[in-house]
Amino acid sequence: MPPVFRFAPSPNGYLHLGHAYSALRNADLARQSGGRLLLRIEDIDATRCRPEFEAAIYDDLAWLGVDWEQPVRRQSQHLAVYREALDRLTALGLVYPSFESRAEIVRMVAQRESSGAWPRDPDGAPLYPGTAKTLSASARERLLASGAPYALRLDMAAALARAGALDWHEQGAGPGGEAGVVVAQPQAWGDVILARKDTPTSYHLAVVVDDALQGITDVVRGADLFWATSVHRLLQCLLDLPAPRYRHHALIRDAAGSKLSKSTRATGLRELRAAGLTPGDIRRQLGLAASPQSG
Ligand code: GLU
Repeated sequence: MPPVFRFAPSPNGYLHLGHAYSALRNADLARQSGGRLLLRIEDIDATRCRPEFEAAIYDDLAWLGVDWEQPVRRQSQHLAVYREALDRLTALGLVYPSFESRAEIVRMVAQRESSGAWPRDPDGAPLYPGTAKTLSASARERLLASGAPYALRLDMAAALARAGALDWHEQGAGPGGEAGVVVAQPQAWGDVILARKDTPTSYHLAVVVDDALQGITDVVRGADLFWATSVHRLLQCLLDLPAPRYRHHALIRDAAGSKLSKSTRATGLRELRAAGLTPGDIRRQLGLAASPQSG
């Protein structure tokens, strides 16, 4: 079976050099291994995703010389599939609703921090204190019936007890230079959000469901998602889904050493193209060998 790669951008802005690097690495690896390259549009966040950004993704990738299979999977068209996965986790007793707003969580954490450091997740956000987990069944029912907004969270302690120890096969290099077998540490994320009242999935849930449904064998993406892989491995285990191989690559940074942002024009592919750069120039700038498709 040929390996199956995917590039999975979110259409919430224009692509920059970092996306180009990820897309081209996937395309090169697929070509070199006689594999396939799929494109997935991760557009579950309806408030931030826009059709013009999606159109620009197709345009920029085609210009770069990236060749992907049709049809493209658009996550917003598959919400029922994610809901089904969520229902399975709920049936296992691993999901609970939390009703605090972000501001309330910040306040709760600040109170706890007055008596010592409070743990943060690998992205630097304070862990959810788990308060809603201890609500009585009747209090929970009352809140749900009131129509209050809520987030559905994974009960991490229960999920870990069910899954046991997990690891993944890393072919790239993580933030600490890890390659080989990496021990997953999903507990570092606490009770992660799996869905919200009006959205039946989060990034973490959709990505594992889709990688499995699309038969992805090799996930190649930026090192900023290295530790998210711990959560992905946990969800794969709980949902009986296969684990792909992972290759996290170093992030492309700007001249000041900062992570690129979709709003910085200096590294936007549209701007570089308008300034007269060719796809071959982009590959050279990214340190990628010339390809037959690039000019
Ligand atoms: N949609 C994610 C992003 O644009 C990437 C997801 C992934 O590669 O797993 O950052």
